[in-house]
Amino acid sequence: MNPDINWAEAVKPLLKKYKGNPHPLEYRTLYELMVMVILAARDSDKHINSIAPALFKTYPDMRSLSGADANVLQTLITGVTNYKNKTQWLLKLAQTIGDDKKIPLTMEELTKLPGIGRKTANVIMHEAKVKPAGVIVDLHVVRVAPRLGIADSTDPDKIEQQIMQAISQKLWGETGMAFSFHGREICRPKPLCPECIVKNVCEYYHVVVLKENKPKQSRILSKTAN
Ligand code: SF4
Repeated sequence: MNPDINWAEAVKPLLKKYKGNPHPLEYRTLYELMVMVILAARDSDKHINSIAPALFKTYPDMRSLSGADANVLQTLITGVTNYKNKTQWLLKLAQTIGDDKKIPLTMEELTKLPGIGRKTANVIMHEAKVKPAGVIVDLHVVRVAPRLGIADSTDPDKIEQQIMQAISQKLWGETGMAFSFHGREICRPKPLCPECIVKNVCEYYHVVVLKENKPKQSRILSKTAN
């Protein structure tokens, strides 16, 4: 992590830009969110949004899911990455929780459930608006944070720890979501750096983008001089 930067200040433009953005998973209840976040692991939010209506028509709440027939559930999520394991996780999770009103909202309880790691738990806690216990680190955040310089690892757990050290706890939830939206829109695999509102503090921008452009500029200048 670049210690010369006041990260709490540096990320403010991103928090402001994405504040209040709805989560890309189009859920209506915490139950739906929980199911959809598990299904979205290593798959796309768009795909999960497309299969959700039929799934929730059949299983509208935790109680109905807990009594689901595994074959019917599996058919409804066939095509989702790792759908066979996810079928078993969802069944076990629903049987463990039993009722929408009993969905746990602590990191400790959530991560004991099948199919739920820290990222999923952080998403659920953020959307439920409870005090954050960590930072959402999805594949977008794994790309954005090291480029920015707020983290220097590609390991999601280490990235989360470094962001947690740099930003105050009350902003952990918003910061993870803002980085994720930024990664989807601007800091894409091929980043749109000229449009980026945090390029002034970005390590990648200063170390890679500006350096790549320097020789071109000097070539243009020398041609002009000739
Ligand atoms: S300047 Fe480029 S690399 Fe840096 S955060 Fe912005 S888009 Fe990503």
